[in-house]
Amino acid sequence: MNAEQILELNKRFGAERPEEVLKWAAEYFNGQVVFSTALGAEDQVITDMIFRNKLNIPQVTLDTGRMFDETYKLLRENEQRYNMRIKVFFPDAVAVESMVNEHGINLFRDSIENRKLCCRVRKIEPLKRALTPYSAWICGLRREQSITRNEINVIDWDESNQKVKINPLASWTEQEVWDYIRDNAVPYNELHDKGFPSIGCAGCTRAVKRSEHVRAGRWWWEAPEQKECGLHLVDGKLVRKNK
Ligand code: SF4
Repeated sequence: MNAEQILELNKRFGAERPEEVLKWAAEYFNGQVVFSTALGAEDQVITDMIFRNKLNIPQVTLDTGRMFDETYKLLRENEQRYNMRIKVFFPDAVAVESMVNEHGINLFRDSIENRKLCCRVRKIEPLKRALTPYSAWICGLRREQSITRNEINVIDWDESNQKVKINPLASWTEQEVWDYIRDNAVPYNELHDKGFPSIGCAGCTRAVKRSEHVRAGRWWWEAPEQKECGLHLVDGKLVRKNK
């Protein structure tokens, strides 16, 4: 898919309902599109839409080895509710051993470089493997989530993975996400009710106050413009092919 096609698709789908975007993606990519869920509230909405509409879109997720118990519980709940198995990708064991033995068990607290190294080993490399068989991937990013995400489109080009990236909820507000979850009794991570609006690895996520930004609890010791694990960045920026 070239830049012009992506531009045209954004004109067509920029204001379209997420379910219509997902239906189009399933049909257009015909088995070549995958949904990468991090089991966040947005991801739960997309999971529900995929199953409600019986779309041909498989799901993958990453187990970094540092996740909350509540996240594993939700993964199990999803499998039971939707009667499916989400394919789980793990980091390379040798790479984790080597990183931890060189830099320490909680290396991510020591420097931004170490934190990025940990995200690279535990998230970016497994995601690359998970996406390899596909031409496109879907994720639950929204523009209002953070300053690193405010330029995303419904259809983007993922330069790092060389794939089309589809963000069906790009224009949704947090309120719309939670309205959908409540209206459709969608399961969600119980940590959301305990002050965790955004949930990542246990060592890198804390609860936030009502007055704080939804992603304030992620890597809270870093500046806002640094706060991406690298899954959605190239050279520190979200890349749009149609720019
Ligand atoms: Fe490592 Fe933290 Fe990134 Fe998880 S979020 S991969 S623990 S640095």
